Amino acid sequence: RIEELRHADVPPARHLIDGSFVPASDGGEMEVISPLDGTRLTVMARGTVADAEAAVAAARRAFDDGRWADMAPAARKAVLLKWAALIEDNALDLAVLGVRDNGTEIGMALKAEPLSAAQTIRYYAEAIDKLYGEIAPTAPGSLGLVHREPAGVVGAIVPWNFPLMIGAWKLGPALAAGCSVVLKPAETASLSLLRIAELAMEAGLPAGVLNVVTGEGAVVGASIAESMDVDVLVFTGSGATGRRLLEASARSNLKRVYLELGGKSPNIVFADAPDMDEAVKVSANGIFRNAGQVCVAGSRLLVERSIHDAFVARLTEFVQGMKVGDPLDPSTAAGAVNSLRQLEQNLGFVAEARAAGRDIRTGGARILEETGGYFMQPTIVTGVDPSDRLAREEVFGPVLAVIPFDTEDEAVAIANGTDFGLAAAVWTANLSRAHRMIRQIKAGVVHVNTYGGSDLTVPLGGVKQSGNGHDKSLHAFDKYLDLKTAWIKL
Ligand code: ADP
Repeated sequence: RIEELRHADVPPARHLIDGSFVPASDGGEMEVISPLDGTRLTVMARGTVADAEAAVAAARRAFDDGRWADMAPAARKAVLLKWAALIEDNALDLAVLGVRDNGTEIGMALKAEPLSAAQTIRYYAEAIDKLYGEIAPTAPGSLGLVHREPAGVVGAIVPWNFPLMIGAWKLGPALAAGCSVVLKPAETASLSLLRIAELAMEAGLPAGVLNVVTGEGAVVGASIAESMDVDVLVFTGSGATGRRLLEASARSNLKRVYLELGGKSPNIVFADAPDMDEAVKVSANGIFRNAGQVCVAGSRLLVERSIHDAFVARLTEFVQGMKVGDPLDPSTAAGAVNSLRQLEQNLGFVAEARAAGRDIRTGGARILEETGGYFMQPTIVTGVDPSDRLAREEVFGPVLAVIPFDTEDEAVAIANGTDFGLAAAVWTANLSRAHRMIRQIKAGVVHVNTYGGSDLTVPLGGVKQSGNGHDKSLHAFDKYLDLKTAWIKL
């Protein structure tokens, strides 16, 4: 089935605006290049400012006339549950389409993309009719009620590494809350999101409640960010773009902006880690799956000096056994780098580390160039100094920086020594130390004796320059629901 889908024709992609699939207003298109072989997969609409404005206007109308927000919670829930079921029914097709567009290995894509998106949508759909308001503990003589109301029109700008998963983290709670949405997918991963938007229409989502505009971030994304009619802007992507979105909000209507940005997440292995085999395997997967293109990737490995050489040797051996290549082969551990631009950026980091005399322990090069695809060896760089660019800036590729440490305090100082604060991990059998580290590490999530695991019940978000606000869990609703107080004199 995968082989059949691998070569299936992909029709030209159009925007979804006000319930209809439409080309760009000026007829503009852009090529969709597959990272699997560098060939043209299809074309998609190159959105204009007019397209973005039309989508926002449609979302505004849909919100203001209450066609979704005022529907009975049970009715909205039924639509979203049907949508989740349709996504599941089409999971393999969606996963393969997404892989051809963005390069993630199919084993991971299937779980992390359509199936995770369906779960997310279902999770928030099921919460719709369990969101009660509050009665405040006021003094006698007055009654304070706290209502929760949908925040309005949501602009959602999402990246290319996990378009469906991250898209659903925004769409699930936003739509469940009763908001309407204008979604801007990334240039290099729009197809599967457009397809699930089509399924949303099939499930009965009213026209205009979900709109999708494809094209360039600097045009479509910027227009959404500048709009006076967007109430909330949610974003996952780079810090540079996040900064622009905050500026756009300040220039326009002070829309609330929630950012999930990059990381340089420390994965800290102490000599007393309970299971070194597990630590090796999970650390490798924590950075190299999806070719390192994971916002929470454990891209800095901090290893206690007494075990540093042995741990690096075992890690290197494990990593050299990871199968890199064709993402549509189910046995592949790490697929393609998303774009040529990204590949060149990854190789630039390696070249700089090499020039600085760092040890490229394994990897460091482009491979399978004859396929035309964008593949890179998993790369381990040792002897990295915490001040190196490789230790401070996000690569967003399969490049691991290894840094030795001697004491717990030093590990904390190195771990906290970047502008980021997204994820972290600590490997130790010492319970007190684990709790000390959890307290001291500045990050949105600290894993203990594992890396990267989580589920929908826990929030995901960053501190410092990794962002604000949270996806996942019931806390995600906070972004999409306004509190309104009613103060009544009795
Ligand atoms: P990356 O460098 O990883 O592609 P970006 O932050 O550039 O990260 O991209 C994430 C999302 O932000 C994409 O959907 C992209 O189109 C969008 N984007 C890029 N530039 C802008 C911008 N100036 N304004 C709004 N959105 C943007």
